[in-house]
Amino acid sequence: MPWLFPPAPTPSLPISDSDARFPVRRILCVGQNYAAHAREMGHDRAEPFFFTKPADAVVTDGADPVYPTVTQNLHHEVELVCAVGPEGVIGWAVGCDLTRRDLQAEAKKAGRPWDASKGFDQSAPCAAIRPGALPDPAAPIELRVNGEVRQTGRLDDMIWSPDEILAKARELWDVQAGDLIFTGTPEGVGPLVPGDVVEATIGGLPSLRFTVAAR
Ligand code: MN
Repeated sequence: MPWLFPPAPTPSLPISDSDARFPVRRILCVGQNYAAHAREMGHDRAEPFFFTKPADAVVTDGADPVYPTVTQNLHHEVELVCAVGPEGVIGWAVGCDLTRRDLQAEAKKAGRPWDASKGFDQSAPCAAIRPGALPDPAAPIELRVNGEVRQTGRLDDMIWSPDEILAKARELWDVQAGDLIFTGTPEGVGPLVPGDVVEATIGGLPSLRFTVAAR
């Protein structure tokens, strides 16, 4: 049977040292997984939880995300991203969970969903996936804006380890090949404006670099 109209292209991420692409099925994200970030968001006893972004929120291959509509307070959140293949985790990447913080604050206050604050278009810039093992837990996770360090931490500052997050995700969903899991952000989240140059690094993973484009 023919399609009524052509299906949207499959969103994908590059893989370092490979021509193959990682087809993105969906994006799960963990909230408040670093103690100091949970505190800065007003939560003393952090209990990680999940929210989602659509697969086509990924921004890859050096593309620049456009400053989103409606918000006056777009925030950066650097995160370790877990890439799930057919037989479990196949690699790791540096991602940025872009957040409309003002809309998130309104949603929290009203007890409403986070979709508009977290799952908007181009909200998930992501670098190439490095296949293989988890980076050294002592590895630094860092984000700079225009050369200035804004977020810095270590992977072992996580409240829940990537293994624990994956196990929890598997309780809630049938996690499948193509799923990405953003594992939370360390403290130091803050605003971005059009023209800002963002560089994010985690250990020896391929780094993420983008400029916030004006609308
Ligand atoms: Mn986040």
